[in-house]
Amino acid sequence: MQFENSREFARQLDKEDKLSKYRNEFILPKVNGKDVIYFVGNSLGLQPKTAQRYVDEIMKDWAELAVEGHFYAEKSWWDYHERFSEKLARVVGANPAEVTVMNTLTVNLHLLMVSFYRPSGKRYKIICEEKAFPSDQYMISSQVRFHGYDPKDAIVEIKKRDGENNFRTEDVLAKIEEVGEECALVLIGGVNYYTGQVFDMATITKAGHDAGAFVGWDLAHAAGNIELKLSEWNVDFAAWCSYKYMNSGPGNASGCFINKKYHNKKDIPRFEGWWGHNKERRFLMEPEFQPEPTADAWQISNAPILAMAPYLASLEMFDEVGMPALIEKRNKIVAYLEYVLHEIDKDVESSFEIITPADQDKRGTQLSVFLHGEGKELFRYLMDQGVITDWREPNVIRLAPAPFYCSFEDMYEFGQILKEGILNKQKV
Ligand SMILES: *Cc1c(COP(=O)(O)O)cnc(C)c1O
Repeated sequence: MQFENSREFARQLDKEDKLSKYRNEFILPKVNGKDVIYFVGNSLGLQPKTAQRYVDEIMKDWAELAVEGHFYAEKSWWDYHERFSEKLARVVGANPAEVTVMNTLTVNLHLLMVSFYRPSGKRYKIICEEKAFPSDQYMISSQVRFHGYDPKDAIVEIKKRDGENNFRTEDVLAKIEEVGEECALVLIGGVNYYTGQVFDMATITKAGHDAGAFVGWDLAHAAGNIELKLSEWNVDFAAWCSYKYMNSGPGNASGCFINKKYHNKKDIPRFEGWWGHNKERRFLMEPEFQPEPTADAWQISNAPILAMAPYLASLEMFDEVGMPALIEKRNKIVAYLEYVLHEIDKDVESSFEIITPADQDKRGTQLSVFLHGEGKELFRYLMDQGVITDWREPNVIRLAPAPFYCSFEDMYEFGQILKEGILNKQKV
């Protein structure tokens, strides 16, 4: 499609956009009396208008039913988490039995390591990407030390080539082959949080299995953003937070995928609690743990219902729209943003560089832009103008126009504000 950098053109794209009506289903903060241009749905998604109602329902049930709400609330609490599995399975390409919601992301990764990082003998190394999200680095490093290994020896990082912005699949595969029978686990962020690069999860998962390792994915930046086929790719486990692209609210519960081949297994190590126990017998308080025959066996505590209510509200919207429609709009709006950036680049002296892959199949909603010669002042200027972006050292802004609530006109408007910001600075 031939794009134009004009307000009329952007408005025309909004008119043709089948998802444009969903913008009104979210609450956009205001700056200077105007809706913000929100580029940080990859960090904290906006609040769906239905979220409040879902929370109010729980408060009302608690007030009116108190403990009876566990069984007699319209959305009973004892099985509240089960309302997520089917819908979430459609988001991540899994069987409903393979998906569960519990705890928070880093906590879940630790818990999943109990099952899937079982170093023994020669096989004790973990392969991950260099400069992984800090929480993942701390998590992996502490796991390795917990098992008595030295992180410097037991953690093997995949590196980018000098001068390149993204990882190459061939380099990931070569590293897996090199570590070979020493490799216990491959654990990578499916979408890199810094650059927005999407890893070839199908190919890497297969390579990890060929080496005899378990393969897990941190999908914090992938869930609700890109097409996932966790079952088909035969991924062992995955976890994601829900407050980024999935709009569930700050610090909210995490989703987990556990491949069905590990269900109904007695010999798999796992930290257990009553919510993973056979649900028909959960309240009999029997001494011996009988795992649920699903990913729910990894549940430990009863669910934080108040927190999960807005997640359910948001998930219902995902189910209504479906990932294919979200991805179709995502590709178009990201392409338009990319075009606008290139147009602005022609008009200003200091140039910027998009470090996210240009290939649509290798990226999701996020474009990371390296601002040569520009500093944090520009980022602050954008914030003052109601453009909410995210700054990462050394000099990168991350722009993620979430397809649910960002408009094409936002992209045009952003381009104008950015250009003005750069030109004004060059004048002084
Ligand atoms: C956002 C993010 C996290 C956050 O972890 P929490 O446990 O939810 O605080 C972890 N890992 C990655 C890759 C992330 O992008």
